[in-house]
Amino acid sequence: MRKKINKQLIGIAIAGILATLLLMSAVFYDLFKRQVQEDLAANVTILESTGIFQRESVDKIDIDLDDLRITWISSDGAVLYDNDADVGNMENHLDRPEVQAALAKGSGQAVRRSRTLNKSTFYYAVGLEDGSVLRAAREAKNILSVFESALPAIGIIILVMIVCCVVLARFLTRNLLKPLEEMALNIEGYTVKPAYRELEPFADTIRAQHEDILKGAKMRQDFTANVSHELKTPLTAISGYAELMENGIVQGEEVKRFSGEIRKNASRLLSLINDIIRLSQLDGMEEENGFETLDLEEIARVCVDNLRISAQKHGVSLMFQAEKTVIRGNRELVTELVTNLCDNAIRYNNWGGRVIVTVKGEAEKAVLEVKDNGIGIPKEHQDRIFERFYRVDKSRSKQTGGTGLGLAIVKHIVALHDAALELESEPGKGTKIRVIF
Ligand code: ADP
Repeated sequence: MRKKINKQLIGIAIAGILATLLLMSAVFYDLFKRQVQEDLAANVTILESTGIFQRESVDKIDIDLDDLRITWISSDGAVLYDNDADVGNMENHLDRPEVQAALAKGSGQAVRRSRTLNKSTFYYAVGLEDGSVLRAAREAKNILSVFESALPAIGIIILVMIVCCVVLARFLTRNLLKPLEEMALNIEGYTVKPAYRELEPFADTIRAQHEDILKGAKMRQDFTANVSHELKTPLTAISGYAELMENGIVQGEEVKRFSGEIRKNASRLLSLINDIIRLSQLDGMEEENGFETLDLEEIARVCVDNLRISAQKHGVSLMFQAEKTVIRGNRELVTELVTNLCDNAIRYNNWGGRVIVTVKGEAEKAVLEVKDNGIGIPKEHQDRIFERFYRVDKSRSKQTGGTGLGLAIVKHIVALHDAALELESEPGKGTKIRVIF
């Protein structure tokens, strides 16, 4: 990048220098041309005012002016006098543009290429009173030769300027890239200086991304550690019970109890693995994946019906009230969301408690509400229960077959559906969770 900026700066500078030189040469040459014409006009006026151009005394005219050629031409184009050539050999001059202009308008001028390549002849002609034309001419360098003679000077100027440009371009590039390099070395602690204000949003974005990456890495690390720990506990139990049974230490009724423990831990492992797989699927899922128009009332009704046995087991009455409500979503995920919320409301309830599941439309939105009068969640835990493996009461969660991942899955599904999640809870009174689609 540094090289590219450098090259571009030098390129722009050289193009600028060349363009300026060319334009300046053209302007100066134009000025020079006008000056030559004005000199010629002044000369002609002076000569005219002397009154020497009389046909009777044409032989007496003798003009000798340095490099100034004077020609006197009659109105029919015949040359009457020329201070530089033999009149007898000269062709008719009526077709010369400056002569024609002088005859028509009183004066005229022209520039023609000389026989010598790098020179031009400038002409200025005026009409005299008797109808004849007086013309002055002079050879001068043309633009090519002016340019040619100025070439060494131009070359030196360009060289000096290029050297200046290279040095300046290096300096500018270094200054331009300095804040970027400093930022790259230490994005965290870098503060954008006022002169580079435009870099502020760039630095902010990179910093935010950097923080996100760090946070993501930390979360993955924590999750892996948690998963290993969670898997290890039931596996250790299973292997312990199995070892005791293998050694024949366990007898009679105990065999049944130990087998039950093994089965319970194995099913815990299965739930854990299912939830982990579900989370990783959700992580890689794009929004609107498998979306269709869903009857939320029907989905919730099926979920509630499937949980009736579990509710009975916990001594909890399960109520369902719904009106026809349609949403766009993924059937499997919405089913999982409703099931997880209802399951929690049953498990974290008291014997004789109640769970009310409501589906309704509210301000053009579909709302799913799961309300229980169970144990509730203390304020300080409310923000964290949606984190992976976060539980308020670990033993109660495990006892009731919880994995600590249910609400993390809920949060993920809500996000994929672009929905909102609201929680109201008070310890001892109960919990209300609303999902607004
Ligand atoms: P778990 O598998 O432990 O139930 P969740 O992610 O579903 O995990 O919930 C996280 C924690 O939030 C639970 O351990 C529990 O402490 C608390 N919790 C969730 N739902 C409720 C509820 N309805 N009432 C009281 N506490 C709840």
